[in-house]
Parts: sequence; C-alpha cells; structure tokens
Amino acid sequence: MMRLDKYLCETGFGTRSQVKDLLKKGQVMVNGEVVKKPELKINETTDQILCQGKKASYQKNIYLMLHKPAGVVSATEDNREKTVLDLVRPEDRKNGLFPVGRLDKDTEGLLLLTDDGELAHRLLSPKKHVDKTYYAKIDGQVTEEHVKQFREGLDIGDEKKTLPAVLTILLSGPVSEIEVTIHEGRFHQIKRMFEAVGCKVTYLKRLSMGSLVLDETLPPEEYRPLTEAELEGLT
Ligand code: URA
Repeated sequence: MMRLDKYLCETGFGTRSQVKDLLKKGQVMVNGEVVKKPELKINETTDQILCQGKKASYQKNIYLMLHKPAGVVSATEDNREKTVLDLVRPEDRKNGLFPVGRLDKDTEGLLLLTDDGELAHRLLSPKKHVDKTYYAKIDGQVTEEHVKQFREGLDIGDEKKTLPAVLTILLSGPVSEIEVTIHEGRFHQIKRMFEAVGCKVTYLKRLSMGSLVLDETLPPEEYRPLTEAELEGLT
C-alpha cells in the first residue's frame, strides 16, 4: 500500500505538486471513481489507477527512440569518443541501457535504446531478418541494373552473398539518392554493397527498423520514449 500522489509521481505523471493539481482537477480515477485525495492509500497491484485516461503502472523496461546524429559512436562507453548514451540526460539514464545494434559513427537516424535484452536479441537475431530501411546519398549513378543486382544478392567479400535487398532510386545522376531495405545487419553493410557495384555512400540515415519508424519531428540528438503502439508493434 502507498499514497496515491507518491504512486503517480513514481509512475511518471509529474512532480508531487503537478500530481496534486491533477488530483484537484478530477483527472485521477481509482477503480472507476474520481479521487481527489492525494493521501489515499492504494494497492499498487490490485487497484486500477487511471490518470488523464492513462493507466498508471510501473514500466519494467525503458525504450527510447533516438535520432542519432553523425559523430557519436553506438556504444555504451568509449574512452575517446562521445557515445549515444552520452546524449541521454542523467535522469533518463537507467542502468543497463544500451543501443540495439550499431550504426556507424557517421550514420544518422533511428536507433533504439533499451534495457530489454530479450527484445534486443529478437530484433538483432540473424534468423528473424528484421527489415531495416535506409536513405542514402551516393557518389555515382545508381541505375536499374543496380536495383537488379541488389535484388539478386551481392558478393561483398563475406562467406555468403547478401540476402535480396530492395533498392529504390529517388534520384539518378552523378550524385544519386536512394532508399534501400535490407534484412540483415552485417558490418558496414550498405556501404559495402554500394562499393561492390562501384559507388560510394556519402550520407547514410536509418529510417526504420521492423515496424519502428523514425519520428521525423524528432531532431538529431533528441530522443523520446516509444509510444505504446510502437512498443506493441515490436513485441
Ligand atoms: N550500413 C552501413 O554501412 N552503415 C551503417 O551504419 C548501417 C548500415
């Protein structure tokens, strides 16, 4: 049992005074009834508590969508380089938080940070083939022949050819722009695929990973918690 206002603070509805305000305004319901008393004792496991229509509960894990900027490394610690975790404010930096997979230092875009090892494992498992879509600027003319080669799989110097990838040309010229979807996550995969066809990636940004799509309103360096719908899509 604990005080209602304490519980609402701990489940992320604001400071004590903000929570008291919400209570005063009648925005909190306990088991279907509006409650205005901050000192009411509630049972965290059996009582159904809604604040502004949202269920109040302790979230076991943390899931953050980060818009990774260029210039930071996808690691939890590094002696010399700034890491993606250095972008997370201390109050959000929960123990065990790590990036799900890696983007190169110069790659931008969607990176999921979590402390949920199970979910990370599922998203990264080579067997699951989670789709990853990237936007890239390419030095060189990307053509329909390249689209075919990407579809058929490329020899990028590994044991096996790459799995079929979907290449879409957005702009074809001396400098091209493309989107590409791959189903694996090999080291420098996109850059090596373009090298294999005689082109060079000059800018790379990840747009999506499985059902999770980079929120374009999120500026580089910023992050936000996943919405419930985004999390459900991944699990
Ligand atoms: N492919 C690359 O070459 N680099 C990345 O960061 C991600 C995919």
